Amino acid sequence: MSAFVGKYADEMVKTAKYLATPGKGILASDESTGTIGKRLSSINLENVESNRQALRELLFTAPGVFDYLSGVILFEETLYQKTSDGKPFVDLLTAGGVVPGIKVDKGTVEIAGTNGETTTQGLDSLGARCAKYYEAGARFAKWRAVLKIGASGEPSELAVKQNAEGLARYALICQENGLVPIVEPEILTDGGHDIKTCAAVTERVLAAVFKSLNDHKVLLEGTLLKCNMVTPGSDSPKVGAEVIAEYTVAALRRTVPPAVPGVVFLSGGQSEEEATQNLDAMNKLEVLKPWTLSFSFGRALQQSTLKKWLGKKENVAAAQATFLVRCKANSEAALGKYAGSGAGDAAASESLYVKGYKY
Ligand code: 13P
Repeated sequence: MSAFVGKYADEMVKTAKYLATPGKGILASDESTGTIGKRLSSINLENVESNRQALRELLFTAPGVFDYLSGVILFEETLYQKTSDGKPFVDLLTAGGVVPGIKVDKGTVEIAGTNGETTTQGLDSLGARCAKYYEAGARFAKWRAVLKIGASGEPSELAVKQNAEGLARYALICQENGLVPIVEPEILTDGGHDIKTCAAVTERVLAAVFKSLNDHKVLLEGTLLKCNMVTPGSDSPKVGAEVIAEYTVAALRRTVPPAVPGVVFLSGGQSEEEATQNLDAMNKLEVLKPWTLSFSFGRALQQSTLKKWLGKKENVAAAQATFLVRCKANSEAALGKYAGSGAGDAAASESLYVKGYKY
């Protein structure tokens, strides 16, 4: 394959490698205005810019947090926000050795004629937006494609193809504009399927995604994969972290080329503690893993922190300490060295699963 080589190729390869630094991971704090509203209302806060800014400031200024993060994904509004004492978030992160990233998709729409399957929007004017975000300091991007496992054979071939094509088009447009694309095909956990079904679907989807990336000549060394862990469906009995680790790493080994420097997982409704233990079990597996395996959690990094904060100034320090516990736990898990230091907080073990969850 002759991969795309543009003026940013070397920089993107370096950035992707840096994002995949062993023992570091990515904070997904790129909830759209609608989605962050759900988080804020869970602690009875109004969805106004000052509250959105305050939550993000709490996360980004938590003392010591940069030791565990290589990147932070932002929503467009946050990319241009500042701390309360006037420092742009982008400058704060960059100075701390944390690469700012940007969500560039515009959510999902249903594919007509399917049983509620979706494709992701946002390709129109994507090049111009990427150029603008690069100018503002972003160096990587995220695009979330969503697939589901259903009783009528979902994901359909049509949905798999459409989403793989969309991800590849997005990835190439990012690379033309200097942003490392995080390629995210998320298979939802909803359903009564077993772990073997999730494994088979994950392999089918990842194989299609990498075929499309190859067809479009995406520079794999300048990308990261963000995917679901392989688990039983939400309505099926749970299995242990070691089982999830074996199925997930096997699915990746069968489909993800070693040219990709890192795989970062979404948490997908798992509790904070489950997500950490599953990641740890993967990194403890003694098989060849040519990529780093780390985290890009949204919900599983922020839930217990939100509950500590409750929107109150006097709780900020305690909430930041809670956030640090989760970041450290996941950093250890990314090295396969987690010994349970984050398991003490009851909020960390609460399931974050919501049926039919929409980001
Ligand atoms: P989770 O909340 O599932 O970890 O998702 C993170 C994310 O960025 C999804 O696109």
